[in-house]
Amino acid sequence: MLGERTVVQEALFYEFSIERHVPADHPLRAIDRFVDLSELRVHLRPFYSEIGRPSIDPELMIRMLLVGYIRGIRSERRLCEEVHLNLAYRWFCRLDLTDAVPDHSTFSKNRHGRFRESDLFRRLFESVVERCIAECLVGGERFAVDASLIRADANKQNATPIDDWPAERLNPGDAPRAVREYLDTLDDAAFGAATEVKPKFTSHADPASQWTGAQKGPAFFAYADNYLIDTDHAIIVDVEATRAVRQAETGAARTMIDRTLARFGLYPEALVADTAYGSADMLGWLVHEHGIEPHIPVFDKSERRDGTFSNTDFRFDRDADEYTCPGGNRLKKYWRTMTKVRTGICKDGFIRYYASKKDCSRCALKAQCTPNQPARKIARHIHEGARNLAREITSSDAYVASSRARKKVEMLFAHLKRILKLDRLRLRGPNGARDEFHLAATAQNLRKLAKLVPTPA
Ligand code: SF4
Repeated sequence: MLGERTVVQEALFYEFSIERHVPADHPLRAIDRFVDLSELRVHLRPFYSEIGRPSIDPELMIRMLLVGYIRGIRSERRLCEEVHLNLAYRWFCRLDLTDAVPDHSTFSKNRHGRFRESDLFRRLFESVVERCIAECLVGGERFAVDASLIRADANKQNATPIDDWPAERLNPGDAPRAVREYLDTLDDAAFGAATEVKPKFTSHADPASQWTGAQKGPAFFAYADNYLIDTDHAIIVDVEATRAVRQAETGAARTMIDRTLARFGLYPEALVADTAYGSADMLGWLVHEHGIEPHIPVFDKSERRDGTFSNTDFRFDRDADEYTCPGGNRLKKYWRTMTKVRTGICKDGFIRYYASKKDCSRCALKAQCTPNQPARKIARHIHEGARNLAREITSSDAYVASSRARKKVEMLFAHLKRILKLDRLRLRGPNGARDEFHLAATAQNLRKLAKLVPTPA
């Protein structure tokens, strides 16, 4: 039988509860248990005037931003539409059915104003890490660090070599915000001062972003998103935005380890990372200054692949401070007797040990040792002890487990790009990257909390 045509007849009164309408197993319900913004409200109070028209509730804006990052909604305009139409999002934002949703332009005003001045997103991120620690999800024994490139909101068409667009010619007075931030961070170790090597191109829209071809495909402008995670449950314990160059990324690892100790009292026994973090300086910093085991492959170019003896074929005598070569002869820092004692440490941190020309010229092993030079020399870094410790660890069973644990940080980046859709930044400048990375890391930790901490019956 043909059914009756449905005609909308608006009821005069509705009895409707959003609370009852959102399913008990909705993911936002599980996450909502861990979102406590009462402290942030106190923190923000000094940034609001005591008089005048009341502002839009900052808690509402933070909750809306969290919905955006948790659900991978990248556009603020779309986020406002979604919150307007989706009942679960309204419930999470504490909006009733008839409450108005803020306009998308409100976000940008607050992001660049009070939120940034009060370092709000950093506070928010730290409050969620504190909750993870309170829920016993952070063991604090083994950390892993890595960085991932996130495309900046900048294109090659609006870029030139830096010599055609030097910083001295820019006037901060009439420059856009991203350019002013670039000028402010020129001496910052995480940005302008990370390396003296000039990038091939500089973007006029976001000059602090780095032109990089590190992913082997076509080059693009990017920032590096740096994560320090606890490997027990892959909780992100710190996050940092830097220029996409290795020097800035290793610097960020140091900053994050120091900050995690100062902020949460967490001090790892071991740090897991890839070869990019295996420089002698980084290993020396970890081992000698902090007593942290480096589960990191050594960044070492001294290994020879042409069949001649490598440095490892030479035996070092610490007491005599000299090497013995496979031919049984000595390699010393100085063959002359010095009137003034010298350390022999060069600017690059290496000490060079030289064989005697006389020994090498009559040695039967010369063709296997130094066929093109009159005498062999060996470079030893001042942190060679730390490098040797890292080499020992990388050949141990513990390193196999550490390598598996390192995958967790890579999976977090994959999740960030594929599920949270943060493969290209929407905000420009170092502060824009910093805000986006903090919100995304907060969203990832909240999702992890919701997944691992069971809902009370
Ligand atoms: S060539 Fe020189 S350094 Fe090499 S094994 Fe012979 S004596 Fe030793």
